[in-house]
Amino acid sequence: MIVTIDGPAGSGKSTTARGVADRLDYVYLDTGAMYRTVALGFLEADAQPSAHDAENVLPELTVDVKYSEEEMRLYLNGEEVTGRIRTPEVGSIVSDISTLRPVRERMVEDQRRIGFEQEEVHGGVVLDGRDTGTVVFPDADIKIFMEADLEERARRRKKEYDEDGKDLSLSEVKEELAQRDRQDRNRDIAPLRRAEDATLLDTTYKTIDDQIAFVVDRVKEYRPSGT
Ligand code: C5P
Repeated sequence: MIVTIDGPAGSGKSTTARGVADRLDYVYLDTGAMYRTVALGFLEADAQPSAHDAENVLPELTVDVKYSEEEMRLYLNGEEVTGRIRTPEVGSIVSDISTLRPVRERMVEDQRRIGFEQEEVHGGVVLDGRDTGTVVFPDADIKIFMEADLEERARRRKKEYDEDGKDLSLSEVKEELAQRDRQDRNRDIAPLRRAEDATLLDTTYKTIDDQIAFVVDRVKEYRPSGT
């Protein structure tokens, strides 16, 4: 069972995807975390998000995903970086990095491989990102597209930053999200968009529990009874 959840930043994808995976004993694959890991690699190499720099940086850079107690962990060049990819610095360049064709080709190939491997082992995978239902798994069993008002998304993201001790104003967070969405929606390769067969889920006025229940219900309706 492959479940894809796409949508803009802060729409609640990752919390929902993780919750759905927990409830169904599936594995959660956060594709944004993989792009963030590549972005951190560029930052550490002092490289620009350009095709030219990508040619030099990418062959030297390894991104690995490992699961430890069902939790996804990210490794950059062999070193665990899970706790270091959610910073405003990474957030400010990750969308530029993810417009680069060689970056996307590598990530999509890895995501398909990991997705199929984990499906084999756990029976199901829940992916979230921007193109998981359109490009990575266009034949996914269940596709969800999440949306929420920018104002509400910014409030949610600011809360996360606050909890992590990162001091940003609501308008800064709003600008970061709006800018990222613009780039993600308007890029040439694999832009953020709803797949024709994806179910729209507006989360502006929904609780996390409602969102999780909505997706779990879709999966249960889809699965033959008893599985
Ligand atoms: O999901 P998250 O907000 O952490 O993703 C960070 C960035 O990675 C996105 O803004 C987008 O530019 C990129 N991304 C992507 N395709 C995906 C997942 C993320 O281009 N499937």
